[in-house]
Amino acid sequence: MAADLICAVVGDNTLLINRRTNRIASMEGDNWYAEIQKLLRKQSIPPEWLKNALVRVGGLDKRNNSIRLHFKTQSRTRLVRATYDITQECNFHCRHCYLGRKEKDVLSLADKLRVIDVIDEAGCVFLQFTGGEVTTDKHFPAIYKYAYEKGFVTSVLSNGRRLGEPLFQKLFMKYPPERITVSLYGGSEESYRQMTMSKGSFTRVINSLKQSARNLIRVDVSLLVASFNIHELSVMKRLLKDNNLSYRLYDRLSPRLNGDPAPVALNVKRPKDRARTPDTEHAIGNIGQDGRFPCQAGSTFIHINHRGHACVCKVARQPSFSVLKEGARALAKILRISNKVLHLDASCLTCAAKMRCKVCPPSMQLYRKAGMATLLCSNPIACAGL
Ligand code: SF4
Ligand code: SF4
Ligand code: SF4
Repeated sequence: MAADLICAVVGDNTLLINRRTNRIASMEGDNWYAEIQKLLRKQSIPPEWLKNALVRVGGLDKRNNSIRLHFKTQSRTRLVRATYDITQECNFHCRHCYLGRKEKDVLSLADKLRVIDVIDEAGCVFLQFTGGEVTTDKHFPAIYKYAYEKGFVTSVLSNGRRLGEPLFQKLFMKYPPERITVSLYGGSEESYRQMTMSKGSFTRVINSLKQSARNLIRVDVSLLVASFNIHELSVMKRLLKDNNLSYRLYDRLSPRLNGDPAPVALNVKRPKDRARTPDTEHAIGNIGQDGRFPCQAGSTFIHINHRGHACVCKVARQPSFSVLKEGARALAKILRISNKVLHLDASCLTCAAKMRCKVCPPSMQLYRKAGMATLLCSNPIACAGL
């Protein structure tokens, strides 16, 4: 049985993370990891300060002072987070899908477990499973359990259609994820049919959300708003409120990874319509003196695609290196090239608005491939040349 309590080094801190309650105690300094390991080896009853920290995260059985603590693999890299597309296959055929034409699964279960081993050895603590749709992958339950037992703090992205099935409910009750984020594409069967090209999905998704709530599985919702479902926005919000589900609203679809601009046409039209960078929440601080965009992609987090290739992030898919062929070297290569991938190009470097701008180089490249650079950039003069 996998321990719920994890001890891990994240950045310069040592964390105690309770995966069942999502509670975290943070200790300044990475030396506490070795210190706690030493203490627990030497004495079965932890000292008072450690007891207090464990009580704070709900990781100590006070009746007999017993602790089940898993020490997450440490490494010399700064990597703490990985996202992994375990498959590109999906049971929806969304008009807005950023993947476009999806490839059939090419990796065996053993290959996928090897990917998990490599990101574990690289020191990642947080692992997000994504796709495609993870629940369509026959390997998913085994891979998820394997990752949990390795001590990862897991999270999952899903379209929710199969989430309510007993197989997945039991899996997530036994091995609780930090969170499952379900995309909600409409407030009726009709809008779901229009968006996902699949029948009966709205009811299935809503039932999955309700079933997960009943089983205390932590779920939140990405509420996608586009031209075909904007009239149902209040219905969707009410439905989520009635079921005590938190959500984030997304109203900007991006071009597909291959540069196909089609999804952008589904965006809600507004006066002075502008696109936003697809994923700006990772951008922190200002552009560095060296012209690097302030995002930790490729430094503290990486992405692995369905072929087991590591890349900087979900948008910056190239260059990529095979984890199966190169093991840890593939990740080390990403760490080395990330500065180059996130370096502003010539037009941005000379732009007066660059310190305020949140458009990252990978997003700009994607919009440029789609012939839509001016939609993303807030500086029309600079963008004339993009
Ligand atoms: S559910 Fe996600 S992966 Fe599947 S088709 Fe829709 S957008 Fe693509
Ligand atoms: S580089 Fe851009 S797209 Fe990639 S994670 Fe950072 S902000 Fe997001
Ligand atoms: S406003 Fe446009 S040109 Fe200026 S930094 Fe941003 S994306 Fe680059």
